[in-house]
Parts: sequence; structure tokens; C-alpha cells
Amino acid sequence: MSSVLPVYNRTNLTFSHGEGVYLYTPEGDKYLDFAAGIAVNSLGHSHPKAVAALVTQAQKLWHVSNLYHIQGLEPLAEKLTQNSFADKVFFCNSGAEAVECGLKMIRKYHDETGNPDKFRIISFMGAFHGRTIATISAGEPGKNTKGFEPLLEGFDHVPYGDLEAVKNAITPQTAGILVEPIQGEGGIKPAPNGFLKALRELCDKHGLLLMYDSVQCGMGRTGKLFSHEWWGVNPDITSSAKGIGNGFPLGACLATDKAAQGMKQGSHGSTYGSNPLAMAVGNAVVGEILSSGFLENVVEQGKYLKERLSSLVIRHPKIIEEIRGMGLMIGIKMRVPNADFVNALRAEKLLTVPASDNVVRVMPPLILEKKHIDEAMPKFEAACEKFV
Ligand code: PLP
Repeated sequence: MSSVLPVYNRTNLTFSHGEGVYLYTPEGDKYLDFAAGIAVNSLGHSHPKAVAALVTQAQKLWHVSNLYHIQGLEPLAEKLTQNSFADKVFFCNSGAEAVECGLKMIRKYHDETGNPDKFRIISFMGAFHGRTIATISAGEPGKNTKGFEPLLEGFDHVPYGDLEAVKNAITPQTAGILVEPIQGEGGIKPAPNGFLKALRELCDKHGLLLMYDSVQCGMGRTGKLFSHEWWGVNPDITSSAKGIGNGFPLGACLATDKAAQGMKQGSHGSTYGSNPLAMAVGNAVVGEILSSGFLENVVEQGKYLKERLSSLVIRHPKIIEEIRGMGLMIGIKMRVPNADFVNALRAEKLLTVPASDNVVRVMPPLILEKKHIDEAMPKFEAACEKFV
């Protein structure tokens, strides 16, 4: 009997090391990693700059607490604010914590501006925001919430992309809207065109804060630092995690000065948040994502990968329904069970990850090259053949 809490369904596979887009088992089997730890390993495995940043910092200082100034904190916050809508950043350790910070910020903003009765947040069906009580309450009610009631009060769920439903859900108590610009766990669903703009207008009209959850779709995954840049619609707050640490636990909540005005000394905190190890890695990772040509490569490889995958739909219309997504955040909508297809790909030594809506997520490291896509395609083809 294992001593580990059995909350995961682990595949019988162990990896001992990785390099670039490849993972290796202790037996020496080589896998092409198109899952990247669920959109986390943005720079791939053992990236020399990320490794050097972590090792150098590990030899100097691990932790001091937020009682002191932390080297690396201001530079990382500035990298993010100088390249986004935001003025302020709070660092934490995971996506759920980054969302949690944003949720607290929304409530505090209204309290600070004389509207303490505004606390409700409109969120969406199909959404996933993490596993804390607040974040499961924000996400789609169902398998993640069952048995954890009573949930946190104050979330109004409406269908994703349904503007009329959003309008109808707004009451005098509404404080903000929380939305993933591209739903990840929900099945790689980009916001319909015009939706984010309409949400922005509604927020401005009703004095609400607009918060994006960019944990999965941010940090260069779509070829922009934040995916919302493709629509040109800024939020007041966004959460970030996953790709920002490349595997080192790091999350961030970014906000405008206006949205952050309620957050003062003592309003929020985290023992590990902004610790020196995380800041060293974060600076290296974000620095690399912002370096010349990096995001352009994501766009180029994303386009090529999507083109190649789209050809599968034509050849195997009974197996694959459609290819969707943006950049290197791609969803294959299956006609056969997605888990079976993920297993078939794994048998070909290609790693992907399932999502809701019978989708297989293809989210390789952002350092992907054309040759890796060419290497992956026969594996996709072979997996399809198994279902013919
Ligand atoms: N938000 C989104 C959009 C996510 O995809 C996830 C994780 O999949 C989270 C939040 C939660 O992140 P974490 O598991 O790091 O708490």
C-alpha cells in the first residue's frame, strides 16, 4: 500500500531526466514531451540558463522571508510590468494562489472605494482556476466541487462566451468578472471574437474589475507574453503561473494601480512567495521568453504544428473532429475517447495531456523546433491508425 494520498491517477511511467523537448526513463527510453508538465516547462527540460540561475542562487541563498528586501524581486516585477498592462505584481507559489490573490484584490478594491457590498464575481462554466476552496468555487461546479460544500459564497457561473448571460448576471453586488482568455482544462477554448472586448465594456460601464486567469494561456504559450494581447483587450488583474517558473513553483498576480489600491501592508502575504530561488529562476525564464525571436518562434511553430495536425482531420475524420487553439496551446477535439488517444500516443513515446470536452492537449515546450514537429507527426499518424 502506498503512503501517498491517492488523489492522482498516475501512469505507470517514471522519468529520470530530461533535455530540451525530450524526457528519458531510467531504462533509457526517450519520449517526445508535447505536454510540458501541463504547459509548465516553457523552456523545456534542463534549459542551461534556468539551470544556471537556480544552481547559482542555491549556492548563495535560499530563503530569508519577506521581512527583508529580496534580490531579484524588483527586476522580475519590472520585467512583467514593463511588458504588460500591469503596474504591480505579487509573487506566490502556484496558479491557485495567484487567482486567490486576484479574488481578494477584487473584494478589497470595492471595500476601499466605499462599496463593501460588492463582492460577487461572475465566472464561467468550463472554467478551471485551481483547487483551493475559493478557486474551486470560482470554477465550474461539478466533479471538482462535489463533497467540498459549502463552497465560498459569491460566484455566479454563466456559459462561456454568452454575453447576454453575463449581462443578466450583473447585480448591484457584482464586483468583477473572472475569465480565462483561452479555457485550458475546459478543452482549449479561445474566447469568441469580441467577447473580451464586450466584457471590458461591461466592466467599465458597471464599475467592475475584469480579471483574466492567464495561468495556462500566459507566459508566451500563444506567442504573446499574455494571450489577451491578441485581442488587444487589457484586464485590471491577471493571474500567472505554470510557464513563468518552468517547473520551479512560482505564481504571480499582476494588477493595475487602480485595481491594487486596496492591497496595503498586511493585506496579503506568503512565506515562500518571492523567495530568492523563485526570483532567480523567474528572472531567467521571463528574460528568455522576452528575448528577441522567442515569441516569434512560438507563433511560427504553432502555425506549422496546427497545419500538420489539421491534415490529420482530413485523413481521419472519424477519429478527429477539429484542431483548435492558439500558438502552442493546441487542442485536438477527438471523436474517439481522448484518454485512449493519449495512451496510444504515449505508446508511440509522445506525451500529451487530456482535457474536458474530449480534447487532447498539445502543449510542447516553447523552444520547439520544426524538426520536433516532423518527428511527432508519424507518431500522431500511427496513433490514428490504431483506431481505424
Ligand atoms: N488557473 C488555470 C487556468 C489553470 O489551468 C490552473 C491549473 O491547471 C490553475 C489556475 C491552478 O494552478 P495550480 O495547479 O498551479 O494551482
